[in-house]
Amino acid sequence: MPIATINPATGVTERTFEEISDQEVERILARAAATFTSYRTTSFAERAAWMVGAAEILEDEVDRVANMMTTEMGKTLAAAKAETLKCAKACRYFAEHAESFLVDEPADAGAVGAAAAYARWQPLGPVLAVMPWNFPLWQAMRFAAPALMAGNVGLLKHASNVPQTAIFMQELFDRAGFPEGAFQTMLISAPRVEAVIRDDRVVAVTLTGSGPAGSSVASIAGDVVKKSVLELGGSDPFIVMPTADLHRAAVVATTARCLNNGQSCIAAKRFIAHVGVADEFERLFVEHMSAQRVGDPMDAATDIGPLASAQQQRDMVDLVADAVAKGATVLCGGVVPDGKGFYYPPTVLTGITPAMRLHTEEAFGPVATLYRVGGIDEAIELANVTEFGLGSNAWTEDPAERERFVTDLAAGMVFINGNTTSYPELPFGGIKASGYGRELTAHGIREFCNLKSVWVGQ
Ligand code: NAP
Repeated sequence: MPIATINPATGVTERTFEEISDQEVERILARAAATFTSYRTTSFAERAAWMVGAAEILEDEVDRVANMMTTEMGKTLAAAKAETLKCAKACRYFAEHAESFLVDEPADAGAVGAAAAYARWQPLGPVLAVMPWNFPLWQAMRFAAPALMAGNVGLLKHASNVPQTAIFMQELFDRAGFPEGAFQTMLISAPRVEAVIRDDRVVAVTLTGSGPAGSSVASIAGDVVKKSVLELGGSDPFIVMPTADLHRAAVVATTARCLNNGQSCIAAKRFIAHVGVADEFERLFVEHMSAQRVGDPMDAATDIGPLASAQQQRDMVDLVADAVAKGATVLCGGVVPDGKGFYYPPTVLTGITPAMRLHTEEAFGPVATLYRVGGIDEAIELANVTEFGLGSNAWTEDPAERERFVTDLAAGMVFINGNTTSYPELPFGGIKASGYGRELTAHGIREFCNLKSVWVGQ
């Protein structure tokens, strides 16, 4: 895959980049290791000041940064601005909370025969982050902000189609005042990730992306006994029960499916309505999906921009064609518009059967499948049918049903009467084929720390 900015709205290659050489990778790794020896001793206050500096740069330059992201991967300019400001918020959040998240944990000294006993969180060293293009700044930031605040140093191998955002990430931390080498971007292709993981100076790896990429990276990390965190795909269910506010559910369902032009791991992808309300929910959902304005992502009137690449567009065409060939009904969308760019319209399909790929595979574009179920048991069974277990959404006013969903949906996250979203204040991650480990909150910052037990004798 070329390392290049190919504008998804036009299909035009705007900039190409050379991969860095093995010698340059060596220089980067040496710099990361050298920087860690001193960076690990910096105080939380110093790191926090630099991190707040990064937040200020993002806030001051939101228009430029958003423009760059929209040009590289096609999200609407409004969404790109929101993403940039969300990153600033995460910088401030970890600047403020890192020290309390990593404070020494007292243990019962008497019980272990010690004068003092406690556990201390310490940074591990240079951590490699392999990141996807769909939230090019946010995915990288939710690794970077906690990792840097913990005293680790970061190495970023970003997706090949967002090189300018990748380069910006390093510039951001350099300009904010972090020591040279605290956060470095490596423009390398995927096959060269293995050598970086295997390098002795790299202590751990986190990957956000597809299952095959996660499996490959985790296997290599396992082979050399290094910690890994995986944030992989999802095919989140969105369940609508009879007591739900159908109008609100249909509006949120549309947002949940179409957010980021449909390219979000936590987008709701499978919509499961109780038969008692299925007709009305279908009518409202199709109405809202059909009303989405697809167009130039730079235009403020646009709801949905293009998909990020020609490959993403082909994937949607193939998934929908497979379902239609096997008997599914298209309620709206389903036809690639004429003209340039990698557009795909909001699409709703019904009559889905287990033989269809869309029943279990992730649709990384604005394609929704709509199911009908007779009751809560059937809803939960269907919700849990895929290999994924990332987010999940259920709409009901019934407290007993809410409790059932919270308990029985096989997912890392459950949102009742809302759509799955990431916040610095809530742990983020999945189970099953959606990965392991958690990002954000105290849990996220601790993933790449050594919890050192300390015992001091009498
Ligand atoms: P992808 O192909 O797996 O790419 C993600 C990153 O991994 C890119 O930097 C890519 O580099 C690299 N990569 C790919 N194959 C690799 C390999 N064998 N070894 C090492 N690195 C490799 O993912 P994608 O299709 O672009 O992104 C969409 C996927 O990410 C979806 O499945 C989505 O659900 C998932 N995702 C998950 C989360 C989450 O938090 N759970 C968030 C966002 C997206 P190149 O670009 O150079 O190939």
